[in-house]
Amino acid sequence: MQIGLVTLFPEMFVAISEYGISGRAFRAGLISLEFWNPRDFTTDKHRTVDDKPFGGGPGMLMKTEPLLASIQAAKSALGQETKVLYMSPQGKTLTQQAIVALARRDNMVLVCGRYQGIDSRVVDAEIDEEWSLGDFVISGGEIAAMALIDAMLRLQPGALGAEDSAQQDSFANGLLHSPEYTRPQSFAGYDVPDVLLSGDHAAIRRWRLQQSLGATWIKRPDLLEAMTLSSEQQQLLEQFKDEYRRLEQVKN
Ligand code: SAH
Repeated sequence: MQIGLVTLFPEMFVAISEYGISGRAFRAGLISLEFWNPRDFTTDKHRTVDDKPFGGGPGMLMKTEPLLASIQAAKSALGQETKVLYMSPQGKTLTQQAIVALARRDNMVLVCGRYQGIDSRVVDAEIDEEWSLGDFVISGGEIAAMALIDAMLRLQPGALGAEDSAQQDSFANGLLHSPEYTRPQSFAGYDVPDVLLSGDHAAIRRWRLQQSLGATWIKRPDLLEAMTLSSEQQQLLEQFKDEYRRLEQVKN
């Protein structure tokens, strides 16, 4: 996968290219980043990359000409048909489902805004899609682009050690991941659930599925509403709810 990044701060991307799972995927060549810095496309002595908004008001916008030139340079390098995505709080919210689809693409250009954002005509003329991290505002598109790239990387074959671990992540099947435990087996009176020590793989699978349904019911009921459960899942969830309510009554 080839990604062209239009950014004033290419140095920030070491956060994903040099650490952990994403760093390993970069070293393995699963993904390549190419940077297009609007500052390199300026023509004035001060290499100006911001400009005042028409109509007044606080803050600055990204200067239009260097921004346009860097987007066009990225497209020339990656191919004119390459989609240009703007990381923006006004975009569609990224979800695992959206990431699965984006991760299948061979290339894309990600535009990282700074200051108060970019000229609306640049959006109309050059941006194919707008994608958001969520309903909050951060200071620049770089962190959003890194979150997107990291999430897409996890889905590339060979990026994760065990081939199936991305399939077990939260959201992959519409549900949150089941709770997990490591050593010690017991601390401060808290024990690891017996079933996980039983070696009974069928029982462990059922337990994990039930816990995953239960965690989703408690923490993200909206996700469950969007799903059609199998009869096994329905049964496991009903059992979970009964047990949960019983424990709530004991507590009160
Ligand atoms: N004035 C803009 C916000 C600008 S924030 C507005 O109110 O809509 C500066 C830059 O940070 C944006 O251009 C965008 O690239 C990035 N950004 C901010 N919040 C974001 C979010 N939730 N998702 C993705 N990118 C975001």
